[in-house]
Order: sequence, then C-alpha cells, then structure tokens
Amino acid sequence: MEQSSIDNKKITGGCYCQRIQYEIQLPVKWCAHCHCSQCRHIQGSPLVTWFGVDKNNFNLISGKTAIAWFESSKSARRAHCIHCATPLFFEGDNWPDEIHITRESTQADILQKPQIHVFYDRHVNYLEIQDNLAKHGGFDGFTLLTTEQKNIQQHQINAQATSTQRKE
Ligand SMILES: [Zn+2]
Ligand SMILES: [Zn+2]
Repeated sequence: MEQSSIDNKKITGGCYCQRIQYEIQLPVKWCAHCHCSQCRHIQGSPLVTWFGVDKNNFNLISGKTAIAWFESSKSARRAHCIHCATPLFFEGDNWPDEIHITRESTQADILQKPQIHVFYDRHVNYLEIQDNLAKHGGFDGFTLLTTEQKNIQQHQINAQATSTQRKE
C-alpha cells in the first residue's frame, strides 16, 4: 500500500464489552510480541502482542470512565476496562510520546505485522515459537539475543529437572 493511503487510514478498537472505543490514525510505529513477566501475569497469557502509536494519532471515542489505570512499575502504567477487564493500554516513561495498545483489542488490519520478540529470554517453556522474527531480551529486554541466550530459560529448566532427579 502506498504511504499516502496508509496515512489516510483510521482504525477502531476497544474492550470486549465495547464501552471503551478508541480510534487510531495509521501508521502505527511498531508491533512486537512481549514475553516479560508483567505482561504474562497481568494478562494471563504466555505472551502479549502490542503495537505502538504516536499519542497524537490516538483518540478515545468512548468509555473514559470505564478505564482503570494502575502503576505496573515505577515507570509504567497499564489500563483495562473496569467492566469486562480487557487489557488495553500501556504507557511508559521510556516512551513519553507513545501509547502502546494490545493487538487483540482491535480486529482491524493495522498494516503492520509483528516485527520482533522482546524479553524473549523470559519466554515460557510450554509454547513453541518457531518464527524467523528477531529475538530480543537481556537486561533491558530489547537487546538482540544470541542463539545461546534464546534458549537460556529452557537450559535452566532442564538443569533444574536434572538436579531434582539426582536427589531422588
Ligand atoms: Zn469493557
Ligand atoms: Zn511486556
């Protein structure tokens, strides 16, 4: 699609009970799979797919009073619907100009497929991922991992299993 037609495209999304509705002017800035422990635990999912939008391109259409924000860390806040609990938004001090939005909160084509995995070295061991996307992790979650580091959690799990067997 030509850039000019992307620039004209708007999409909508929102929560499951539809009280909260948002509108976005495309293009999005990025789309990524996150494996961090906060995303996994708070959203009850082995990974969470997010896309980032310039705040100027985001517009809340309805449901302002249905949104609950909470501080998920010293530098980040997350929002969900107080009625249906759908996780929707993330804002972090590291991205002051962006709002991050859960990919599953819209059925629209955002014209950007997921590009990378972040915090990949925290990934769960019960979901197999065999795509060709770049795997990032490390201290900040965003450093490109080596093949060895990608499998680090699996190694730790194998090592635990081995040491348990030895005790028996
Ligand atoms: Zn809702
Ligand atoms: Zn995350």
